[in-house]
Amino acid sequence: MQSFQELNVSAPLLQAIQELGYVTPSPIQAQALPILLGEPTDFLGLAATGTGKTAAFAIPLIERIDPSIHAVQAVVLCPTRELAIQVAQQIDLIGKIKGVKALPVYGGAGYGDQLKGLKRGPAVVVGTPGRIVDHLDRGTMKLDQVELVVLDEADEMISMGFKEDLEFILGHVPPGMSNTWLFSATMSPGVRKVADEYLRQPQQVQVNRTEMLPATIEQLYFCTQESNKPEILCKLIESADAFYGIIFCQTKSLVIDLTQYLRGRSYSVDCLHGDMDQSARERVMKSFRDKKVNVLVCTDVASRGLDVQGITHVLNYSIPREMDSYVHRIGRTGRSGQSGFAMSLVTPAQRGLIHRIEKFTQRKMKEGKIPTRKEVAMRKVGNLVEPFRGQVNFNKAIDLLDSSWKEELAGKTVEEIAGRFLCLLYPELFAADRAKEKEENAQPQQFSIQRNSERDGGGRSSRPDRRDRDRQPGGEGRDRRGGDSRSGKPHRGHRGFGRGPKRS
Ligand code: AMP
Repeated sequence: MQSFQELNVSAPLLQAIQELGYVTPSPIQAQALPILLGEPTDFLGLAATGTGKTAAFAIPLIERIDPSIHAVQAVVLCPTRELAIQVAQQIDLIGKIKGVKALPVYGGAGYGDQLKGLKRGPAVVVGTPGRIVDHLDRGTMKLDQVELVVLDEADEMISMGFKEDLEFILGHVPPGMSNTWLFSATMSPGVRKVADEYLRQPQQVQVNRTEMLPATIEQLYFCTQESNKPEILCKLIESADAFYGIIFCQTKSLVIDLTQYLRGRSYSVDCLHGDMDQSARERVMKSFRDKKVNVLVCTDVASRGLDVQGITHVLNYSIPREMDSYVHRIGRTGRSGQSGFAMSLVTPAQRGLIHRIEKFTQRKMKEGKIPTRKEVAMRKVGNLVEPFRGQVNFNKAIDLLDSSWKEELAGKTVEEIAGRFLCLLYPELFAADRAKEKEENAQPQQFSIQRNSERDGGGRSSRPDRRDRDRQPGGEGRDRRGGDSRSGKPHRGHRGFGRGPKRS
């Protein structure tokens, strides 16, 4: 494998890359950089999120920028605001020593800062297609000096209905003087069409599916009835050594319902879905990145491009029907050589999907064993040893024990006292008998809200909600069932996920 130096990356960029901790180029970088750092050319890169594709285009893009020219020289188009923000940040990091910065321009945010930024003549603009079209329409952005257009996650942009916007933007770039680099996870017919129309003799690079998924991800699936999923999800979270993970649901109403359910059981959880406004999304992302919450429930669209280090688990509460979504989702764990778990909950009727996924990813998935209550209890109790040891106020607590406590404790062994306190802390772990547990893992129960949630907003399809499109004002508002989805408050008539003891 060649080093970045051998790939002729310039000194200021090499230093920045080193500071980012990139030692060797990823497969897409090793293949794309020699082409993109060479003679100007159009380019087609088939690579998904998690492969290092951003740096694969950011490095040669920055090399082509002249920071002394105050005009837009490169435009990167991304399907979502989150991805646009992340790509702009990565360009800033790689370009910081050379003095190249990117201006993020996306829908759902005010125009004020973007207009100020555009007036300064940024060299690189990274944005969502809808908002860039708005700026071109208003005459507040000019692309007459653009030398390079990058279409990032082109398949997503096309499936979200941005094709016309892409064509409009490409039509504003000086013909013959610029290059177009298209990156996509898949070569869908829509992507093929755009490539045929807008790329001139593109050089093509493809990262194999097997290279796209880090070998450090352990893929497991758990077969269960739909109605038992909430309980099993809790067991999986609680039996993990450490859990810092993302739970994927197919629809935003299911995201809202599941988040409420987990909150009700005292998990540190938040959610991301297409109806949240930009500031709410950023707030959630920040608290997840800062590990103030360790469980994030979201839809595919809301999480697109989400790049968070150290994710231990990706949990497919609803298994995606599109194979690419599966690869996108689980690629969020197992990054930078760290290990990670990808766990999928499937109903007996969905077992066939497992074979399709295995064929697509060319990886085996193992059927996991749902932990028993006893196993979960043992894990929880085991995890208490450290905090138990760290209690500094135990002397003050002893002073609180009055004569009735002293009487109660007299004659009991230390184990009995500890056991009684554990029962107080975790009543749910010791309440159920084995028969009940068996029944839970096998019998369907009535949780109609869950089924409604699955149906609402798309049912079997995992196509993103079009309201996630950035041209529609903020993507915010009320959803079809009349609930205030901005606040994440339950809809009228919400019955929750039903039973299940509280954790506290
Ligand atoms: P991407 O596919 O662009 O979303 O990148 C996935 C993750 O890999 C990001 O966190 C990057 O910072 C990281 N990354 C990109 N290139 C490298 C590299 N050569 N070595 C290590 N990490 C990298």
